[in-house]
Amino acid sequence: MITFKDIHIQFGELSVIPGLNLQIREGEFFTFLGPSGCGKTTILRSLVGFINPSGGQILLNDRDITNVPIEKRGISMVFQSYALFPTLNVYENIAFGLRVQKIPSARLDEEVRDIARKVDLSEEQLFKKVSELSGGQQQRVAIARALVLKPSILALDEPLSNLDAKLRVQLRNELKSLQKKFGITTIYVTHDQEEALTLSDRIAVFHKGVAEQVGTPQEIYNHSATEFVCNFIGSSN
Ligand code: ADP
Repeated sequence: MITFKDIHIQFGELSVIPGLNLQIREGEFFTFLGPSGCGKTTILRSLVGFINPSGGQILLNDRDITNVPIEKRGISMVFQSYALFPTLNVYENIAFGLRVQKIPSARLDEEVRDIARKVDLSEEQLFKKVSELSGGQQQRVAIARALVLKPSILALDEPLSNLDAKLRVQLRNELKSLQKKFGITTIYVTHDQEEALTLSDRIAVFHKGVAEQVGTPQEIYNHSATEFVCNFIGSSN
């Protein structure tokens, strides 16, 4: 469904992605895994539309989206820090993208409440300020805000990395069950092997901008294709 076709990304003299070929299937939970600085976020940003590749194509169901503006790609992104508006209440945070699109207020109200219900945010929580919520609740708001726009793809950039270990494991499970519930194609970026192995249908392990191995968690764990993959999967950050 998503095809990266010989994607090159360069920042000045620095070649970060030297030619990526990769296919991601509809409905799968796909993770870009690798150490800090290997180019995971850069690839995700090129898919979402924040960065234009210097060469190659990105196809979405055979449609070339390489130069399509962000808002026309049908991809919603959840950032590491969630990028919520702390002084607005949950309702307004979720409604934000719909207001930008000038969705009529009755429909907006229906859609905000519908998605809040689906991610288990209560009526009471809807009218709390985001800053009054726990980390877990904030994650649900961030996901609701992305999903309310009915994207075909959800892109998540290290959404758990700022949390303590216990909460991280709890939210990992929650994230997985939400993804299963919505069945939405999810692209996930992390440097955490354990997170990638537990969450993903398939993983691409990156090293210096190159996908060294693409496979299921079992394949990556049991049959590492290169020495780098073997060492990286075996290490514990
Ligand atoms: P990762 O997500 O794997 O930690 P990134 O994709 O953020 O890695 O970064 C890959 C490399 O690209 C790094 O060397 C980083 O410094 C560089 N880089 C990322 N964004 C920019 C930018 N906007 N301008 C210049 N260099 C960048």
